[in-house]
Amino acid sequence: MAIHAGQLYWPTTMNEASTIQNHVDEKIYDAVIIGGGMSGALTALSLVNAGLKVAIVDQKEFADGSTAANTGLLQYSNDIMLHELIEQIGEEKAIAFYQLCYKALNDLHETAGKLPIDPEFINRPSIYYASDENDLRKIKKEFEVLSTYDFPCEYWDHSTLIDRTGINKPGALLTYGDAEVNPYKLVRGILQMIQSQGADLHSGLRVEDVIETEGILHVVTSGGKIKARNVIYTTGYVKPPVGKLTGDVLKRTYVAVSKPIQQPAWFEKALIWETKRPYLYMRTTVDDRIIIGGLDEETDQINIPLEAIQAKAERLIREANELLPGLQMELEMSYCALFGESQDELPFIGRHPEKPHQYYLLGYGGNGTVYSMLGAKMLTEMIQGKEPAHSQIVGLDRSVPGMNHTIIR
Ligand SMILES: Cc1cc2nc3c(=O)[nH]c(=O)nc-3n(C[C@H](O)[C@H](O)[C@H](O)COP(=O)(O)OP(=O)(O)OC[C@H]3O[C@@H](n4cnc5c(N)ncnc54)[C@H](O)[C@@H]3O)c2cc1C
Repeated sequence: MAIHAGQLYWPTTMNEASTIQNHVDEKIYDAVIIGGGMSGALTALSLVNAGLKVAIVDQKEFADGSTAANTGLLQYSNDIMLHELIEQIGEEKAIAFYQLCYKALNDLHETAGKLPIDPEFINRPSIYYASDENDLRKIKKEFEVLSTYDFPCEYWDHSTLIDRTGINKPGALLTYGDAEVNPYKLVRGILQMIQSQGADLHSGLRVEDVIETEGILHVVTSGGKIKARNVIYTTGYVKPPVGKLTGDVLKRTYVAVSKPIQQPAWFEKALIWETKRPYLYMRTTVDDRIIIGGLDEETDQINIPLEAIQAKAERLIREANELLPGLQMELEMSYCALFGESQDELPFIGRHPEKPHQYYLLGYGGNGTVYSMLGAKMLTEMIQGKEPAHSQIVGLDRSVPGMNHTIIR
């Protein structure tokens, strides 16, 4: 299943020899991870750090799924605002979820600092602007709730926003402690590090099934069986080979990457996004490009003509130039990609309800990397026999408003 089409940017930023081995042997792993993208790499790292023997299997090249399309914005705020999440799941759980995301961001920072490849992790504030007057109320409410619970943020009215950024919108929420990253280098760096610590990496092996006999899980791949005590599915937006997922929604989204421009300087090179849905968002890169994303469409079809992708990317560039008139960006690369959301805007993380040694980490939603990090920690604790705090918020059998069924079965 194709996940993206067009010309991706991140793979052009590194030229690295393959670190992937490809033989299957007889050992029994503590955990086999199916899917070698952001979720698989972070989970493997966490398990290796806990002293477990781990293998990762990917049907293609590592980091070439959604991870290669990921625009690399890391934020503690989520597509669902905190005050909206409070209405959805109650105050205690909503605050706990936001705190988990905040902690995951710090964990990502710590991880990025230890890698053999520099993943271009840079702390940035985020500017979350109100797209219209109506949404200004939401921004103000969100500022009040975030401040009440000590999340670092600030409110800017129209004149502050236009003075500091040139953005002519009714007002904005500033959040601090967010970051940008090169997701491709982050994952490649993690893989290189864990391979040197004994983890086995197998690319080009498609997992077809997982069968349990006498307490051992047999991971059936296109290149033979691998034995494990635990299996973790980190298959991204591709349906996992075991377990039926419901509550997910796939969309097509677009990305434009500008040519390098002189001084892509706006307020602290903040990550920029907006309240309208689908939202326009943008960030800078270390080689002075601007990456702009948005224009999501309600379809899971990815095979469209390159001209159609380019036309959408040109539109993203036009919209960004209108928002930030001084910059005058020009398009260099464009792609479209599948993007997964969940109906309740929370990721799917946890143990299969009926298969106690099989786990899922599916980071559906705009904050996928933060979810990959928090899921990696949660699943490590579960495999160690602990019950991580607040895991029921993202669990696979949680009840979702308007949905009465299990998410994975
Ligand atoms: C355009 C775009 C922009 C985004 N921007 C952001 C952003 O700014 N910030 C953010 O946090 N998130 C963002 N995301 C989301 C982010 O990309 C995902 O959350 C994240 O990459 C998911 O990583 P993953 O490891 O779960 O999935 P993937 O990277 O897709 O990895 C899954 C892997 O599983 C493998 N696989 C699947 N099935 C099998 C099988 N049966 N056998 C073997 N291997 C299998 C696939 O080959 C793939 O390599 C964005 C997504 C898109 C599409």
